[in-house]
Amino acid sequence: MLPVIALVGRPNVGKSTLFNRLTRSRDALVHDMPGVTRDRKYGDGKLGEKPFIVIDTGGITGGEEGIDHEMARQSLQAIEEADVVLFLVDGRAGLNPSDEMIADHLRRSNKEAHLIVNKTDGVDPDVAMADFHTLGLGEPIAIAAAHNRGVRLLVEYVLGGYPEPEETEEQDTGVRIAIVGRPNVGKSTLVNRLLGEERVVVFDEAGTTRDSIYIPYERDGKPYTIIDTAGVRRRKNVKEAVEKFSIIKTLQAIKDSNVAVLVIDARQGVTEQDLHMLSFVMDAGRALVIAFNKWDGMSADEKEDVKAQVQRRLEFAAFARFHFISALHGSGVGDLYRSVNEAYDCAMAKWATNRLTTLLEDVVADHQPPQVAGRRIKLRYAHQGGSNPPVIVVHGNQTDQLPQSYRRYLQNRFIKVLKIRGTPVRFEFKTGD
Ligand code: GDP
Ligand code: GDP
Repeated sequence: MLPVIALVGRPNVGKSTLFNRLTRSRDALVHDMPGVTRDRKYGDGKLGEKPFIVIDTGGITGGEEGIDHEMARQSLQAIEEADVVLFLVDGRAGLNPSDEMIADHLRRSNKEAHLIVNKTDGVDPDVAMADFHTLGLGEPIAIAAAHNRGVRLLVEYVLGGYPEPEETEEQDTGVRIAIVGRPNVGKSTLVNRLLGEERVVVFDEAGTTRDSIYIPYERDGKPYTIIDTAGVRRRKNVKEAVEKFSIIKTLQAIKDSNVAVLVIDARQGVTEQDLHMLSFVMDAGRALVIAFNKWDGMSADEKEDVKAQVQRRLEFAAFARFHFISALHGSGVGDLYRSVNEAYDCAMAKWATNRLTTLLEDVVADHQPPQVAGRRIKLRYAHQGGSNPPVIVVHGNQTDQLPQSYRRYLQNRFIKVLKIRGTPVRFEFKTGD
């Protein structure tokens, strides 16, 4: 499980600035998703050697009413869900009553919390920090998030005790399938249905509400593990159902899976929250199957409408297969396996360098890259740089000059010829050797 870092503090101390520093990625998946990722509060930590999840919170002001109240509530929940809390204060503004209130809460919460003094650029850090010792949260750490000063050290320091990520062995657990989606779309019903006919080997270990349940089983002699974010097999009474949904749990499950099955309530259509879930899967680069559930009892018009929405709103996820199912009645559920297996096989496929290079030569022979300043861009060879998602690295010269249209042409051809379906693919273009 990845460590979760929460950023808290009153508004304007630099939380978003730090969040952006921590989540900035050089090789982010290229995808078009207008409006979806803009206000993201949960991000993948990309700085340093160890991966982590970071939560940005709205801020705690002290006068918690109306919208402030909601912000504070979310901040407190983020603290609950986090392993490490970074409590930011403003080194230029000095100590503020809200800071004392937050410090008070953190001291009582028993969470690992670090006091971070931001905006120490252009001021004497010792003077800036002196004020904050009285908060009783230990030695403050000085940073300047806007200038990226002290940020990497900070991450290395707070994650120092966490182990390096291990390479997970696929063989152990078979195909790991995360069943994700917003509350009430039918995840529990689907998990039960998927497991209904199979012999479940083990399930239900102790865990917190933040953890998913891992359920290994076999189907047609093939091992699978369902990562159950809905917690069906643990739920003991109806009351628990209310709290079973957690974004952190969903993020962790997606990261830990090979294939995510995103469940959408067909009766509600594609909602903003569905698109959020989808963007988590895309960011993680996981293979994906989309299941429109509750397809039973819908009128022909309603069905048409959903299919139109798929065209309109989910075009950027067109690499995935779409299914229309009823978890309640079981129709279409068995067919999910065909797409899950296909997506898994493509996500884990291994292609030899000479196969990819021959393909590259064919692609180039059919359509040459353009000239740049009188010199033709040369693409020399290609190799595979990773799996789940597959990474294809194309080597040549002046590759940074390759127009977007040519990249798209090349990518489409590779995906078509290699018959990749159900997983995103990352292409990297490198100049030299
Ligand atoms: P948030 O409300 O806590 O998320 O704060 P923001 O990240 O939006 O930052 C508030 C303001 O402080 C913005 O104008 C930032 O540019 C500025 N700021 C953030 N970090 C620093 C820093 O390290 N130094 C300086 N001088 N300004 C900063
Ligand atoms: P979760 O919160 O995503 O785990 O959703 P649940 O599995 O608890 O389902 C929420 C509600 O939707 C329950 O009342 C289910 O009986 C109902 N439901 C689930 N799947 C279907 C379906 O395929 N058709 C219909 N009509 N209802 C369903």
